[in-house]
Amino acid sequence: MDSEQISVLESEFFALSSKFDTLATRLFTGKIDVPTFERSLISELKGATIRAYVVGANGTPTAKHYGSSGLHLRQKYADLHRLTEKISQGALSEAQIRDRLSRHARSIQTAAARSEKITMALAGFDIAKRTLDPQAKHCKSCLRLVTDGFEPISKVTPRGVNCECGSHCRCLVVYKKSGNPLNPLGLADEILRLDRENSLSDDKLLAKIESLLGAKKRRIRRSDKGFGTV
Ligand SMILES: [Zn+2]
Ligand SMILES: [Zn+2]
Repeated sequence: MDSEQISVLESEFFALSSKFDTLATRLFTGKIDVPTFERSLISELKGATIRAYVVGANGTPTAKHYGSSGLHLRQKYADLHRLTEKISQGALSEAQIRDRLSRHARSIQTAAARSEKITMALAGFDIAKRTLDPQAKHCKSCLRLVTDGFEPISKVTPRGVNCECGSHCRCLVVYKKSGNPLNPLGLADEILRLDRENSLSDDKLLAKIESLLGAKKRRIRRSDKGFGTV
């Protein structure tokens, strides 16, 4: 990702954080209830996530990017629902809620990293190397996700995906062409297939979210496939 893409993502992050903060304030002052709060979080996060995917796709997302964004958003909806459930139970302080919302806003960086991986695969970059940032603290998953030099791209996890540090992950991923070109479309499909296998398919939880969203149910389903409207 170049410096322009990084700065666009930073502005998206700040804009999203501030929207989340405003929503939190509306919740704490009783202006909105928890279900409205959750729906609004989803809608804001969705817009920002799609823009992050477009950034990772260098401005031209393909069907593969849409597929990946749908998967990513499903996981995020489940994460946000877990958060709002805890809020309903009164299990979190205002400071804790604001802190978690900021982490959720950071997830757009993970979205962009996922998108970048698809972009690279489609451009024929078939191998990648993942290393630790020597300045950063690492979680257990990140230590495990380091590659032994360059490996097939499908085996390399993008920064922030499936690790405890999540969007704070600072691991480095470098993409390269092996010189033995593979079919880029097939490679992108393979990445999506593995992503789907590795994603926690929490169907019960998603069913709950859908029933909570009630009338929005069908639209949420459609949005899982990509860029519908919530
Ligand atoms: Zn980590
Ligand atoms: Zn990391």
